[in-house]
Amino acid sequence: MKNRQRGTLIGLAVGDALGGAVEFCRPGRFPPVTGYRDGGPHRLNAGEWTDDTSLALALADSIATVGWNLNDQARRYVEWWKKGNYSVNGQCFDIGFTTREALSNFLDTKDASRSGDRSERASGNGSIMRLAPIPIRYHHLFPNDIESLARFAEESSLTTHASEQCISACRYMALVLTGLIHGKDRDEVLSPTWEPLARLKKIKPLHPLIQKVADGSFRNKQPPEIRGSGWVVQSLEAALWAFHDAATFEEAVLRAVNLGEDADTTGAVCGQLAGAHWGESGIAESLRAGLARRDMIEKALEGIVG
Ligand code: MG
Ligand code: MG
Repeated sequence: MKNRQRGTLIGLAVGDALGGAVEFCRPGRFPPVTGYRDGGPHRLNAGEWTDDTSLALALADSIATVGWNLNDQARRYVEWWKKGNYSVNGQCFDIGFTTREALSNFLDTKDASRSGDRSERASGNGSIMRLAPIPIRYHHLFPNDIESLARFAEESSLTTHASEQCISACRYMALVLTGLIHGKDRDEVLSPTWEPLARLKKIKPLHPLIQKVADGSFRNKQPPEIRGSGWVVQSLEAALWAFHDAATFEEAVLRAVNLGEDADTTGAVCGQLAGAHWGESGIAESLRAGLARRDMIEKALEGIVG
């Protein structure tokens, strides 16, 4: 269990760091990623990670320090944005538009449960990319109390991404990650007829576009139909496409980041799934050792892995 909990967050950071060098690149227009490399839009060093991991570390720190408190979560996101806390190099160099707007709202209203944009057009992948701390910390809610698990996932999205698509994606992904952390079979967890999924939908139906993904849209598409864009629906679908039939952690995340576009985030979402499935020990030692600021990731894990 501990191996898979740790793998979920480490996998997120590995996928993020692998994709950072080719973020915003058009598919097929860059030398395929095979390992960490320097560069990309933020001119990072090999193994350095981006906002996806920073926000996951902030969320983990909040849960570990004060328990479940949305205002505290948002406050820590603001500390990253304004002061560079939780950043690999002490600076916030890549905040997304939807996240920045939401955190500005939070600074005005002090109410994180209402700070995220609820409109469908604001359906970016910014809340699934940082989700890992929730299934890691609250895995014990599976399988008997998936209602509470789904509520944590949903609420965590509200701070920055409050559209139904984003909320549904977080609810679905939290359930899948928790099943994987419990060592459930990958095909079973990703099956549209998985029993816990039926219960999740009974509590509240998924958004129709997320339902399509949960029904297995990723199984019968290939790029360019599969796209690692910043839209939550395509991002989740692309991560599942890369993960669902991969033979290893490395194969999954490299497939994800080599889609280009929002490569770091597709990598981070896929890395959570693959890390939960194969565990920390299933992540190649070179990828683990090459990750920048491992101390920050270890500190976050200490607070949420129990
Ligand atoms: Mg990023
Ligand atoms: Mg990104």
